[in-house]
Amino acid sequence: MRILLIEDEAALARPLREHLEAEHHIVEWFTTLDEALSAILTLEYDIILLDLQLPDGDGLSLLSKVRDRHIRTPVIILTARDKVSDRIDGLNRGADDYVIKPFDLNEVTARIHTVCRRSTDQLTQTSLVRDLSICLADRSVSRQGRDIRLTSKEWSVLEVLLRRPSKIVPKESLEAAVYAFGDEVESNALEAHISRLRAKLGKDLIVTHRGLGYLLQP
Ligand code: CA
Repeated sequence: MRILLIEDEAALARPLREHLEAEHHIVEWFTTLDEALSAILTLEYDIILLDLQLPDGDGLSLLSKVRDRHIRTPVIILTARDKVSDRIDGLNRGADDYVIKPFDLNEVTARIHTVCRRSTDQLTQTSLVRDLSICLADRSVSRQGRDIRLTSKEWSVLEVLLRRPSKIVPKESLEAAVYAFGDEVESNALEAHISRLRAKLGKDLIVTHRGLGYLLQP
């Protein structure tokens, strides 16, 4: 997973980042709301871990900005404030969960998995993309009632893109979804999957943004 960590206390952020990287996640760490917001608006993350007291403001204001822009990336609040009102405020503004500091590293990982599973469950219905009917739960895709067969790697690529319609997904996120950690990945392997998906599903469904990644154009 690609994780955005927003936390200004290095003593908390460093061990958390190391712990998550040891679990093969990609972690990008920022210490201010400003930097974090521009990262969120540019790239796609699977989850955001958000501290509330940051040098340039309150994490809740960032959360509101993100949700106002209809960005649905799951957010877990990391906070020393254990007052009930702060938790309710966070959840009301669109946070998915919160962890009280000081936290246990394994607890954070467990929450990440729970929150991501929950957001996956919301995708189990059939979605209609152009003239395609796609069901992630049983991995089926059809056009006008006719099934289209995809390989498991093509499914993995499509699934990642479907979770972030109209957003540029970095090439590394797609490769991370398609290949197991430690797999030897040939430089053009992902492009080959993308071009087969275009051939099967429609040539302009997936748009290439050179140097940035790929975007599913619903
Ligand atoms: Ca802080």
